[in-house]
Amino acid sequence: MSPRIFLLEDVFDKDIVSIKGDNARYISTVLRCNTGEPLTLLDNRGNSYSAVIVKSLPSEVVVRLTGKDEDIKTELPIDITLAQAIPKGDKMDIIIQKATELGVKRIIPIVTERTEVRITRRLNRWKEIAISAAQQSRRLRIPEIESPVGFNSFMAEASSGIIFWEKSENSLKKVIRDYKPGGSITIVIGPEGGFSDEEIKAASERGFQHVSLGPRILRAETAAIVAVSIIQYELGDLQEDN
Ligand code: SAH
Repeated sequence: MSPRIFLLEDVFDKDIVSIKGDNARYISTVLRCNTGEPLTLLDNRGNSYSAVIVKSLPSEVVVRLTGKDEDIKTELPIDITLAQAIPKGDKMDIIIQKATELGVKRIIPIVTERTEVRITRRLNRWKEIAISAAQQSRRLRIPEIESPVGFNSFMAEASSGIIFWEKSENSLKKVIRDYKPGGSITIVIGPEGGFSDEEIKAASERGFQHVSLGPRILRAETAAIVAVSIIQYELGDLQEDN
């Protein structure tokens, strides 16, 4: 399988493409790709192109486009937005990586009442993690990682979705029946300290249903991965025969 690179420039109508900057350095020095070797280029609009390297230097990589790859279906049939309260340490990195592999469309880092982190400005790092995870998992699109927002501002913009709350008595299995493949779903996961009762009340007023993930308390990163996996299984493409 040839290395995959997202190229966010409008170059795909040409036969010969010059790649510079970080991508060139990455292809020539990290991936150590040589002249004559294949490369897959992705435009982040759902298209994948085969290419062959004609020059590989850290300052410039030149490729010849050899064709467009058809029929690649690595994007989920449902748009999942994950609104995640930023957890401590580097757990957000793991959540972004895993949620990208599992196919989420958008991640919104949120700051809640009990969010304990001070530094919420890791946006560039999170975006880079999303790009590598999208390349590695052979996705055609990089998930959007939005700037962190406060819980209230997030709720003011949102209209409906699912909020995961360990005290809820509602089952995800039932609530998920309201959603269909082809549509979209927003899910909200709390920080280590959980959501406050006021936050759950505010979410309910905005049309969010609270649900439980069972009687055990999961860590925030586990809850995010499990929630996305269940939705992918129920409404996505996990169960299809390939
Ligand atoms: N501090 C809380 C747990 C927070 S767990 C307590 O000990 O009670 C972090 C987040 O993961 C929660 O805000 C929730 O969104 C999610 N979560 C963890 N376990 C869950 C469960 N059993 N049901 C629903 N959500 C859960």
